[in-house]
Amino acid sequence: MEKCLFCKVVNKQIPAKIIYEDDIVVAFEDINPQAPVHILLIPKKHVETVLDLTEEDKDLAGYLFLAAGKIARDIEALNDGFRIVVNCKENAGQAVFHLHLHILGGRRMQWPPG
Ligand code: AMP
Ligand code: ZN
Repeated sequence: MEKCLFCKVVNKQIPAKIIYEDDIVVAFEDINPQAPVHILLIPKKHVETVLDLTEEDKDLAGYLFLAAGKIARDIEALNDGFRIVVNCKENAGQAVFHLHLHILGGRRMQWPPG
């Protein structure tokens, strides 16, 4: 998607602090971190929201969680736990319409979320 910010990260058209990349996903540091560790994990395929995932994306959706686990295991600050957040549309505060998992940690999280 030409105008999509995160497609631009995938295509290296804008800089990002990439911490993991393979054929299917990219993980990079959030530009405005909400915790000591705040990573965004995205599929390379442009999918706007969770609601836009189809049967065809079954493997992709599973892969995102496997990749999140793989990334988290390698970060010492996440040893005591972390949170994965996926915002969907306006009420959740989704700002970038390219599916992404927030991996947040390095501090005690509050519940319920704001
Ligand atoms: P969301 O509100 O769930 O759509 O989250 C979008 C996230 O993308 C926010 O946490 C932003 O701080 C982050 N963000 C926006 N632009 C960039 C960028 N160029 N590089 C890294 N993170 C970004
Ligand atoms: Zn995109």
